[in-house]
Amino acid sequence: MIPLSSVAIIGAGPNGLAAAVTLARAGLDVTVYEAADRPGGGTRTAELIEPGSWHDVCSAVHPGALASPFFRRFGLAERVDFVTPEIAYGQPRAGRAAVLAYSDLATTVDRLGRDGAGWRRVFRPLTDRFAAITELTSDHPLLAPRRPGAAITFGLRAAGQWQPVRAARLLGGDAADLFSGVAGHASQPLSALSTTLTGLTLATYAHTVGWPIPVGGSYKITEALVRDLEGHGGKVITGQRVRSVSELPPVDAMIFDTSVWDLITIAGSLLPGSYRRRAARFRPGPAVGKVDFLLSEPVPWRDPELGRASTVHLSGTAGELATAELAVHRGRIPEHPMVLASEPTRFDHGRAPAGRHVLWAYAHLPNGCTVDPTPIVTAELERHAPGFTETIIASTARTAADAERENPNYLGGDIYAGALTTAQTLARPMLTANPWRIGRTDCYLCSSATAPGPGVHGMGGYRAALAALRGTFGHRADVDLAP
Ligand SMILES: Cc1cc2nc3c(=O)[nH]c(=O)nc-3n(C[C@H](O)[C@H](O)[C@H](O)COP(=O)(O)OP(=O)(O)OC[C@H]3O[C@@H](n4cnc5c(N)ncnc54)[C@H](O)[C@@H]3O)c2cc1C
Repeated sequence: MIPLSSVAIIGAGPNGLAAAVTLARAGLDVTVYEAADRPGGGTRTAELIEPGSWHDVCSAVHPGALASPFFRRFGLAERVDFVTPEIAYGQPRAGRAAVLAYSDLATTVDRLGRDGAGWRRVFRPLTDRFAAITELTSDHPLLAPRRPGAAITFGLRAAGQWQPVRAARLLGGDAADLFSGVAGHASQPLSALSTTLTGLTLATYAHTVGWPIPVGGSYKITEALVRDLEGHGGKVITGQRVRSVSELPPVDAMIFDTSVWDLITIAGSLLPGSYRRRAARFRPGPAVGKVDFLLSEPVPWRDPELGRASTVHLSGTAGELATAELAVHRGRIPEHPMVLASEPTRFDHGRAPAGRHVLWAYAHLPNGCTVDPTPIVTAELERHAPGFTETIIASTARTAADAERENPNYLGGDIYAGALTTAQTLARPMLTANPWRIGRTDCYLCSSATAPGPGVHGMGGYRAALAALRGTFGHRADVDLAP
């Protein structure tokens, strides 16, 4: 135990709360300050349209949470019930059957037919070394040499699937389409190495932990974290947006679950000038336009198998997705933007009363886009699910500007708090071996603006907390996180 010292955490997203839990369990006096009226950040669930129907406000599907070394140590699966659909993700294509990624790798390979062998060659070595691969993908890329076996296995596949050097293509035809949809989560051009890294990571998780949905919604993850924090003496103060460190009581360390740009504003002159200059070069990425629907029946997919998938990538073939993502990257709304959709009520019947179905969907759009995403998302759904429009009871939408108003981390509607370009994936938010500690100060960054990047995995928070324990408090012992 460390003699009682105090820590302020700015922001109660999954990373801020992961940091808070780790530090409170190490014996520190932890207070989390949250701008919104509820904790959770990207991990909230709300009755957005009518009482009794629960929509995930941001994140909905949680492969990263179940794979995360932090959440494994925390015992998340013992604290929150998850349902894992047999099909992790699927992708409709105009005039052709959908392509599907099953949780089971062998079934995926089998259903891909002649393109299955390539899929197996890419993913079998990754799923075989799953524990090492998750440690690798949950850490800072510069620390990859600490896990040489996993790094080589992962690196070879990344090189093989990275478009510009894909001389010996392992994935062709249907497999290439299936991979493009999962890689599209990066919201970057398909040719970017970071797009390939994102696809390999999420697809490996699909064939190991699956793409699970929390029963009751993503807020259950927040509740588990807050309960644990409070059980170890910490507290969350909501409705308090911190605009300057001068608003905070004196503390021994500060951990920021904020954007890099907000960090510079809030901590200002506390930060070394060199850090401020380098951080100012960090750039936001494309936005999302989110639409939540209340339906009278499940989505009438043209290919009914898609109703069994945790997430549907409405992104067409690899070629169509490449065109769409490039347009977004250049600041244009494409004719058919990538839309992601998930129907939790297919798997978690308590989310809505009988006769009601909840649909979560968002489109990749240019940063700062002020266009109402409802007609765009509706048109893409109607294209692959004829009759969809007649099932809509009501909907509510959030433009890029709305997203930023609701969560200051989403600059211009960028839900990743910084573009996932290759450079910003490897150096997040800048090239340094310890991206969580800010120079020699007692300030730390833990949000998805730092390694390992976006997603609900708590790893940014956990790593920042460990950096603070060592850097500020000289504490090197393991912290027990078990329930
Ligand atoms: C529409 C959408 C869909 C997504 N889908 C998924 C998904 O299915 N699966 C997945 O794994 N991830 C998904 N994500 C991404 C995921 O939600 C984020 O990567 C994750 O929440 C990042 O966690 P974080 O703690 O870094 O930041 P956040 O969750 O953004 O939390 C930051 C918190 O800090 C608060 N804050 C910021 N600045 C201040 C300040 N100055 N003072 C006080 N409080 C402040 C904010 O209000 C917020 O509550 C999605 C995100 C969005 C928006």
